[in-house]
Amino acid sequence: MGENIKMTPDGTLVVPEVPVIPFIEGDGTGVDIWPAARLVLDAAAARHGHSVDWREVLAGEKAYNEVGDWLPQETIEAFQECLIGIKGPLTTPIGGGFRSLNVAIRQILDLYVCLRPVRWFKGVPSPVKAPELVDMVIFRENTEDIYAGLEVEAMSPEALKLRGLLEDAFGWKIREDSGIGIKPISKTGSQRLQRAAIEYAVAKGRKRVHWVHKGNIMKFTEGAFQKWGYELVREEFSDVAVGWADCGGDPGDKILVQDAIADIALQQVLTRPAEFDVIGTMNLNGDYLSDALAAQVGGIGIAPGGNANYVTGHGIFEATHGTAPKYAGQDKVNPSSVLLSGVLMFEHIGWQEAADDIVTALEATIGDKVVTYDFARQMDGATEVKCSEFAQAIVDRF
Ligand code: NAP
Repeated sequence: MGENIKMTPDGTLVVPEVPVIPFIEGDGTGVDIWPAARLVLDAAAARHGHSVDWREVLAGEKAYNEVGDWLPQETIEAFQECLIGIKGPLTTPIGGGFRSLNVAIRQILDLYVCLRPVRWFKGVPSPVKAPELVDMVIFRENTEDIYAGLEVEAMSPEALKLRGLLEDAFGWKIREDSGIGIKPISKTGSQRLQRAAIEYAVAKGRKRVHWVHKGNIMKFTEGAFQKWGYELVREEFSDVAVGWADCGGDPGDKILVQDAIADIALQQVLTRPAEFDVIGTMNLNGDYLSDALAAQVGGIGIAPGGNANYVTGHGIFEATHGTAPKYAGQDKVNPSSVLLSGVLMFEHIGWQEAADDIVTALEATIGDKVVTYDFARQMDGATEVKCSEFAQAIVDRF
């Protein structure tokens, strides 16, 4: 029987011998990818004397069909109590009262960091010449920005009222038939994200942190994010990190913190990927950057993700693709996204050796050209295997 993971007041995760980890299987292809990923996670954990007490919790279609609720309260409570969890993809209910179940879970648990590591796995078909140079970790702010949901529809009474208020109070003239969205970026929200990015860089021995922003245009939101990022380095991290302007680009043995305008950054991650390491950015930039980078390493279907609150200790790791309903139940799709999210989760709870074993065996499997349909169709001489067979092939290479 397992015990819950806990967080000490000084912010250290305490992981018991057998942690209870709640999981959401996921809709659609969740029935295929989750059991495959779990097989590999369990086998890797066992090699290092660990085991997980997996507890299924419901969300999405399965929850709706079984208990008539898309996101049952027990599921939220399980994640609240157990701190760390993992999930497959979920169908977004249409007219179900949520913009998205994923967004709802992030908001309820205030998971303010969206963590997206992007690296190439040897053998994965990629559209660029040197995908091996890509090894970046994106910290995307998850709770603010234009994603905060503060929007009104063009010509609605709310839009007309807001337009009137803005004109009366600030003299701002907005065209009458405009939809209007609000973009809040707070110092609190920015610096907690930036703190997590720098602490990660310190913990993992990373050398550079970039704040990616569009502050030349949006001075008091994106520009403020950049300014607050540098202030944080000076106020809290001067022993381990230094901003570009404070060291003339020569950080000595400290972490170099610099910034890049979002449009240029999107070019440079493609043309000079080796210069990027940890990236901290706001919600919308982070969305574009993570998918653009994932495509660069051929990993759009295998990119892992995690959502975390580094203060409360909550973290939910998740496949970044959707439910791919046309393949559901066919034992066909690639389980790597949820599996690598499990790897992130193992790293997060300190099971680094088990995480490393999975990455090494996954690389060996892809290197042997034993792959699921999505890679097989882009590789010469590949052996196409089912989802479950791919998982077994990874375990066989431990
Ligand atoms: P999707 O499920 O991600 O599927 C789009 C395509 O991506 C698939 O047709 C397939 O490409 C490829 N793909 C997805 N998963 C794959 C896997 N495991 N292995 C290999 N290839 C994979 O996107 P969608 O069709 O737009 O969305 C379907 C549902 O998922 C919607 O209800 C959406 O709301 C939901 N969704 C959930 C999440 C989440 O829970 N995090 C994220 C995104 C979307 P090919 O057809 O080329 O083989």
